[in-house]
Order: sequence, then C-alpha cells, then structure tokens
Amino acid sequence: MNAPTSLPVSMPIPGHVDPVPVPRPVTPREDGRTDLIGLPRPQIAALFQEAGLDAKAAKLRAKQVFHWLYHRGVTTFEAMTDIAKTMRPWLAERFVIGRPQVVEAQVSTDGTRKWLLRTADGHDFEMVFIPDADRGTLCVSSQVGCTLNCRFCHTGTMKLVRNLTPGEIVGQVMLARDALGEWPKGSMAGLDLTDEVEEDADEGSYTADGRLLTNIVMMGMGEPLYNFDNVRDALKLVMDGDGLALSKRRITLSTAGVVPMMARAGEEIGVNLAVSLHAVTKDVRDEIVPINRKFGLEELLQACADYPGASNARRITFEYVMLKDRNDSDDDARELVRLLKQYKLPAKVNLIPFNPWPGAPYECSTPERVKRFAEIVFEAGISAPVRTPRGRDIDAACGQLKTAAERRSRAELDRLAAEKQAALG
Ligand code: SAH
Repeated sequence: MNAPTSLPVSMPIPGHVDPVPVPRPVTPREDGRTDLIGLPRPQIAALFQEAGLDAKAAKLRAKQVFHWLYHRGVTTFEAMTDIAKTMRPWLAERFVIGRPQVVEAQVSTDGTRKWLLRTADGHDFEMVFIPDADRGTLCVSSQVGCTLNCRFCHTGTMKLVRNLTPGEIVGQVMLARDALGEWPKGSMAGLDLTDEVEEDADEGSYTADGRLLTNIVMMGMGEPLYNFDNVRDALKLVMDGDGLALSKRRITLSTAGVVPMMARAGEEIGVNLAVSLHAVTKDVRDEIVPINRKFGLEELLQACADYPGASNARRITFEYVMLKDRNDSDDDARELVRLLKQYKLPAKVNLIPFNPWPGAPYECSTPERVKRFAEIVFEAGISAPVRTPRGRDIDAACGQLKTAAERRSRAELDRLAAEKQAALG
C-alpha cells in the first residue's frame, strides 16, 4: 500500500505515537521484472497485454498461469507444461514467481511449526502452523511489526516497519503448502485450455481431502484491518475457486477493534470475525488494548452486532487473554456475559492463558481462576473453551511473535535499563 489516502494506517492512537504513520512502499525489484504473486487475474492479463500479447491470448495465458501459480504451486515458468515451450522463457524474462524467503524453520515439541520469513527488501516476519487432530491452522501475519502496542503482546513492542503486500500475505499460505507438500499433483483436466499441451508426467487427481492445512487465521503479526486493502486482496486469492480455493468459513480475521473497518471487512472479505476483547471495562481495556481509547467498548460491540454474516451458525469469537488480577475476576466474567447478551451477539469466547515473554508486565491467571471464569461464562450459555497454548517452547504462541533481530535489540534495551537502574541505586 503506497497511497497516503489509505485511511486507517495513518491514524494515530491517542496517547501513543504511531512510529511510522505512512508505511513505506515496497522497494521495486532491481531486475525490473514483476512478481506475479499477489496480483488478481485481470491484472496478470493486463500485464501480459502490455508486454505484447493480444487481448485474447493475454487472457488465456493469465488463466493458465493463475492456475499454475495458485492451484499447482509451481515456482518456475518452465514447469507450466501446457504453455508453449517458447513462451516460457518469454515469461521468465519479464516476470517472477515470488515467495517470501525462509530464514529459519522451527518445530515445537507439540508439532507447532514457526517460520521466520524475509521480504525481498529485507524485513523479517513470522508465520505459524498449528496441527490438530481434525484440522491444521496457519497463523498468517499482515504487517511487519504492529502499531497497536497492546501491553501484554510481544509483537506490540515492535515498531511497525511496513504493511505486508498481498503477495507477501498470500505467499505465506503458499510457502506453508510448499513446506507441507500439499500442492495437488495431476493433470490439468477440466480446465479446457486450448494450447499445444504437453503430456503431464505426474498423473493424479486433485483432492481437497486429507490436507494438513485446512484453516487460516489472520492472527500473526500486525493488525489486519490497518492493512485492509492488502489483506482483502490476499484473502480473495486464498478463497478463489481457481486459486488456493479455501472456503471463507475456514478463514478467520482477528482485529483488536478497528471499528471503522469492520463493516467493510464483512462485506468485502466475508470471513469469520474474531475480536481481541480482553477486558470489559474502559479502564482496563484502555490500559491493555490502547486502541480502546480511540474506539471504545460500546462502539466495538455495536460493530460486532452489525457485522455482516454473523449468526448463530457463524459466531463471532471473542478472544480473552487471562491476566492475573487484571481482568480475571468473577465480576469480569459476569460483565462479559452481560455485555454479550446486551448486544445480542452470536458469540463464543476463547480464553487464552497469557503467554509470557521476557519483560512482560503481566502474569498468567492461575488454572483455578481460568476454570472458574470459564464456568461462569459457560453457565450463562456461551461457549468458553480455554485454549491450550501451542508452540510456547519456540515462542510461537499467541503474542510471542517477534523477530530475532528485534529481540536482540530489545535485549540490549533491557540491559541498558538494568544498568541505568543499577547506577541509580
Ligand atoms: N491485531 C490483531 C491480530 C493479532 S491476533 C488482534 O489483536 O486481534 C493475536 C492474538 O493473540 C490476539 O488476540 C492477541 O490479543 C493475543 N495475544 C497477544 N499477546 C498475547 C500473549 N502474550 N498471550 C496470549 N495471547 C496474546
């Protein structure tokens, strides 16, 4: 996103200075070629036409290439076997098939995987895959860093470096499929494309069953609704039936409460909504989720009530991090129930035990407290599962994402603070 007109990104949060009010645009590729990943099909066709194909050929090629990119996951034009042999180098001279670079891949003792990724212009971000018995969830980042400064979140201590592009967002899903070996093999049968088709060696059939990666949550680094256009464009590619073809019912977007963008998220993206609520009084929410000072609880809950597509069959998830003596009392639980009922919200509550990180100003509630809190909500008829923390040993759990380079500088800061403290007395 390089237009300064894109509203919310540049909105400062009262009491907090946005570190980079206008995100920096992506540095263009030095070799002059264009990365096709992240572009909608009509734009690919337009680029092919600009490069010299006539309109009809451009459209056909765009359809073929799109299918190879998003359905089959190829990373070279040479692998596009139904495209004429002479055409493939022509494409390769002008275009590239980008993937974020994998800097490091880690696996937790519980099977959770975390990847440290790098953009073409050298910024690091993370993505996490969480396998379960009946599903596999990819936790995708929307920004490098974050502007929100939620006090219990490690990512919140990073500055916002920039928004991720649609290609970098959809690229995470593609990388996960690469790593999990989940691109369908087989023929292009059914596509009905007229060209000199070569025999496809690896016959097989495309099946959506038995996949590891079944769900996507926009719950990695960043605030997706502060990068609305890019997140929307990326998720369109993820949902495109000719593309990655994941159902919108298997995608969840989580927001800390960017109220003005919530209706558009429902209308233009239409995925499941999760809201990082975390507190039920103004004072506490102002402290731990500072965006609350800009968009208050009432406004937020009203926007949830108005969220297009929410129903008892498609409930809104309210995330609630359990912080010892901060937001975990019986009264908090009862107030949570009261608010959800007052706004008649089709809701489920996800109770997240606080995941610690070095220097965090909070502790996790005791297991007994979490249990009691869950009971109160559950007894009021609202589903309130306690989320099992995953991947804590590799810092992949909620709120633990923070890139290594940043971590080092933070460690330095902590050391400096300690030295200063020692000097003072
Ligand atoms: N900005 C969006 C997307 C990030 S989702 C949002 O706030 O919803 C990341 C989730 O992990 C959020 O619900 C966040 O509040 C939660 N989280 C952050 N730090 C955490 C921590 N230390 N322990 C547990 N959950 C945390």
